[in-house]
Amino acid sequence: MSDPALQPVVKEIPPKAADLSAWYTAVCLKAELVSYSPVRGCVVLRPYGYGLWENLQKHLDKAFKDTGHENAYFPLLIPEGLLLKEAEHVEGFAPEVAWVTHGGQEELTERLAIRPTSEAIIGVMYAQWVESYRDLPILINQWANVLRWEKATRPFLRTMEFLWQEGHTAHAHAAEAREETLKMLDVYREFAENVAAVPVYAGIKSASERFPGAVETFSIEALMPDGKALQSATSHDLGQNFAKAYDIKFLDADQQIKYAYTTSWGMSWRMLGAMIMTHGDDRGLRIPPKMAPLEAVFVPIVRKGDERAVAAAHDAAKTLREAGFRVRVDDRDQQPGWKYAEWDVRGVPLRIEIGPRDVDAGTVVLVRRDKAKGDPEQKQSVPLDQLAQHVRVSLDAIQLSMYEEAKAFLHEHTPRANDRAEFTRLCKERAGMVDITWCGRAACEAHVKAETGATTRNTRALDGDETSCVACGEAATVRAYFAQSY
Ligand SMILES: [Zn+2]
Repeated sequence: MSDPALQPVVKEIPPKAADLSAWYTAVCLKAELVSYSPVRGCVVLRPYGYGLWENLQKHLDKAFKDTGHENAYFPLLIPEGLLLKEAEHVEGFAPEVAWVTHGGQEELTERLAIRPTSEAIIGVMYAQWVESYRDLPILINQWANVLRWEKATRPFLRTMEFLWQEGHTAHAHAAEAREETLKMLDVYREFAENVAAVPVYAGIKSASERFPGAVETFSIEALMPDGKALQSATSHDLGQNFAKAYDIKFLDADQQIKYAYTTSWGMSWRMLGAMIMTHGDDRGLRIPPKMAPLEAVFVPIVRKGDERAVAAAHDAAKTLREAGFRVRVDDRDQQPGWKYAEWDVRGVPLRIEIGPRDVDAGTVVLVRRDKAKGDPEQKQSVPLDQLAQHVRVSLDAIQLSMYEEAKAFLHEHTPRANDRAEFTRLCKERAGMVDITWCGRAACEAHVKAETGATTRNTRALDGDETSCVACGEAATVRAYFAQSY
């Protein structure tokens, strides 16, 4: 049974440039990535949407394991007393925590938090596992759901319950923890750019944007087509703050008892939202091949009862599947044009058309989803007996082209502002990632936010001998990207 008030019916996808928000919601629903659920703030990830998540998992999980990490799983519920141990942490998350107060009819003597993140429950376990410097480092990742109380619902971008991974590591030395934090930031950057084809700026968050309880937070920031930034992953150097709160200490080689240094790092399904907004167009999704649940779809064309194309498509699909490609044959009883539009909405990178004349000629037509209709690179006729090679080349070209297109957009929309008036105007206009020399002061940041709505996205070292903050005129300490953000 469907509730029309609950489940908006999308007939047409509105133009992306006119209203990104309306376009985004329409595409997520029409491409069958998600459905709204009867639970406010929670969406259902449908099979096609889950396919995107699985590809994110597959690539990131390999990168985590290649860098020496293992997966584990910790409880969903965290006793209140544990969460209270790190003061800044609990203060930062307090407004978003959902509590379990009853078990059946019985009121609990201690409330249980539904994890908003797992530093607390993992910290207390690491304290039990670590005795000697020989037990370090601990390099663990968890794939999990978390819950943060949210009023708004926007698929992938803002939901109460969401899927993510959270890495938690413990080290004997500060330098090693910092190295880990940066290493994982780079894993995220690499994934965003080379798999999701979303170019990002990696850097340090300002103190006010730091993870509660962290010594330093690093992030990757992407730029959406409406000029708003989207934080796509974070990596935190927690110093000894959490080790002290949760008593993670060890006997070092010098026979001294010391606190460990810990890190945590996470990427959520928000990254999928960044990917969808970055690449989609007025026809629907455009999914980079490495993330696509289906890399290619065959549309056989039947004319006057000549069904040879259907059999030829199934044969060719079998060959591609054996070569490791994710493909499907759409042999439903519908007009080809209807099928083209449907697979366009779903953003399948490559469509393979095959009709009776192709069967006679031993060819198929490859149609690239990333190219516009009429683009000379959109369509190509290739011999059926070399299909796998041509599909490989085409998918690689699509992956690269989508990334280059997005990178050009990011660079074109990263103006450097040189004076205050220009800076304020660019921030207000959502001109993109406005790049300035900055003082790093919280008061300056708060003033910019109040005046323009823009916040610091992340910062990096000065690259010249600039001396003053473009926003306030005080001495500059860093370069910073300012933008309005999701
Ligand atoms: Zn300033």
